[in-house]
Parts: sequence; structure tokens; C-alpha cells
Amino acid sequence: MKIVIVGAGAMGSLFGGLLAEADNEVVLVDIWKDHIDAINKKGLWIEGISGNRFVTIKASTKIQAVSGKPDLLIIFVKSYHTEKVAQEISSIIADNTSLLTLQNGLGNTEILSKFYGPERVIAGTTSFGATILGPGKVLHAGIGPTTIGELDGKITIRINDIAKVLSQSGIKTEINQNVLGLIWSKLVINVGINALGTLLRVKNGEIITGKFSPKIQESLVEEAVQVAKKKRIKLVHQDMLKEVVSVCKKTKNNLNSMLQDVIKKRKTEIDFINGAIVKEGKYVNIATPVNHMITELVKAIEEKYEKQINL
Ligand code: NAD
Repeated sequence: MKIVIVGAGAMGSLFGGLLAEADNEVVLVDIWKDHIDAINKKGLWIEGISGNRFVTIKASTKIQAVSGKPDLLIIFVKSYHTEKVAQEISSIIADNTSLLTLQNGLGNTEILSKFYGPERVIAGTTSFGATILGPGKVLHAGIGPTTIGELDGKITIRINDIAKVLSQSGIKTEINQNVLGLIWSKLVINVGINALGTLLRVKNGEIITGKFSPKIQESLVEEAVQVAKKKRIKLVHQDMLKEVVSVCKKTKNNLNSMLQDVIKKRKTEIDFINGAIVKEGKYVNIATPVNHMITELVKAIEEKYEKQINL
């Protein structure tokens, strides 16, 4: 399959490397020049749970430099860059190009659908984990199920083909007919963990201990579930709070990605996680005061990065 990955950071590089190793024709596109130069010079270094090796893979800093049009274009930028990328990819999209998003948060499928029509978009979630170690180097940190689906739930030839290509590359992929429910369920989990863990500056396991933090988590999750219910989203877990607590236990030693962003003073995906609950809540008339406050607090932290006192 001819595949272009736009956003070749941690996840884009890992997926691109694995797909290239399985003999797909892959091009990585990223604006991070040092990373692209390193990949073109020496190959992409992948280390971690799938082994340590160099992968030969084409990489470019410019979408326009990609020759030919891909069968599959995977968007792996952070959610706040999706809109910009959606505009930039128009030159390489053919009639038969499918767009796949496995990004976290809410709004990515909507942005891609707005530009290219929902029939072109495939979405899903992945439990793979990756971290960039430096230019040209990625750590394969976690492995787990990847699930994709058509937005209208149909089982099509292309969804089968894409799931097969991913699975054959070591990214075990299932097809699901309730992809919106899946995305929302992962969203609710992130809503209960990311911002709270970030404000507290604790590992996931600590969020569910003590007198105050579990109560805040419960409110965050409850608001999100109410919004999902009003939108008639079919969440995949009966008891979302139980699931959030269970994820905290299973990942008790992890620093969530938002906390990692804040530690490195990078922009977070808050607008697409707790912020998305606030936005969607307004549309369906459900009050989301706790998500609203935590969103504003994380945005205030981002705003003060340069003024923070280093103790
Ligand atoms: P990342 O920051 O490592 O990578 C994003 C890359 O996008 C960066 O290298 C950046 O230079 C590039 N980029 C920004 N604007 C661009 C543009 N206009 N054109 C091309 N490239 C551009 O992020 P990540 O950790 O790989 O996460 C990507 C998405 O996947 C996020 O939505 C994240 O929540 C989700 N996700 C991450 C993980 C993980 O373990 N890292 C796991 C599951 C889901």
C-alpha cells in the first residue's frame, strides 16, 4: 500500500517504521527538519519493545515533495495542528485516498470531514505508545490493540484492507462499527486522567488516591458521560468511572502525555480533551463546570510557561 504519514513525531514515526518494514511504500512528512534529515541520512532508529534497529524509510519536510498520491494518508500531528494539515494535504489527495486519524481527543474526524467529506475519513484509537528520543530516534514504549472503523459503521473493502495492512505490520488492528463510541470512550478516559494528573504533577496511580483527587476525577468523568449520553454516543464501557480508575491502576507508573507536555513547556491537547467536553456540553445544554475550570487552569499554566519560578 502507498502510505503517507503527516506528523512523523513519536507515533507517526513508529507507525511509519513498522509499515515500511512490512514492505509498504511509506513516506513520512514532518516540519521538524533535523528529524527528517536524520531519517534520510541514517534511517529511522526504533528501539524498545519491538526490538532495536534502523529502518530505511523516505522522509520529507514538505508535503508537496511527495511524488504520487497515496492510497492511505495517516494524520499523526497533535490535534491542534489537524486543521492546518488538512489544508496542506489537498495537493496529494486522489479520489481513492483514505484519511486515517488515530489521534487522541475530539474534533479530528470533524475537521477532516469538513475538508474532504466524511466518506473519505476513517478513524479509530490505538493503545500503542511511543516517545521521541531525539532527531531520527523513536522509542516503541507500548503495545496494545488498535481499532478502526468507517464513520458510518459500514464494513467496507477498504476498511478490511487497511486493517489487514496494519495487522501485517505488527499493529494488530480490529474493525469496529461503533468508532465514534470508541473515540468518545477513550476521550472520557483522557478527560478523567490527563488534566488532573497534570495539575497534580503525579503519575496515573496517584490520581485515584487521597481525599480530593478521586472526587474531582468523578466529576470530570460524570460530566463527560452526561454529554455523551445526551449526544446518543454509545460508550463502550457500562461504567466509565470504573474503567477510568482501572486504567489508572494499570498505568500507575505512567506520566500522562499532557503532563509530559507541561513538563517540557509544550502546548497541550487540552482543547481537544476536557475543552471538547465543555464545547460539546454547550451544544447539548449540559453544564460542565469542572471540565471548564480544569481546561482554564491548564491553559493558564501554558500561558505562564515563561514566567514560572524554577524552584
Ligand atoms: P508528537 O508531538 O511526537 O508528533 C507530532 C509531530 O507533528 C511533530 O513531530 C511535529 O513536528 C509534527 N507537525 C506539526 N505540524 C506539522 C505540519 N504542519 N506538517 C507536518 N508535521 C507537523 O506527537 P505524538 O506523541 O506522536 O502524538 C500524535 C497524536 O497521537 C496525538 O493526538 C496524541 O494524543 C496521539 N497519541 C499519542 C500516543 C503516544 O504514545 N505518543 C499514543 C496514542 C495516541
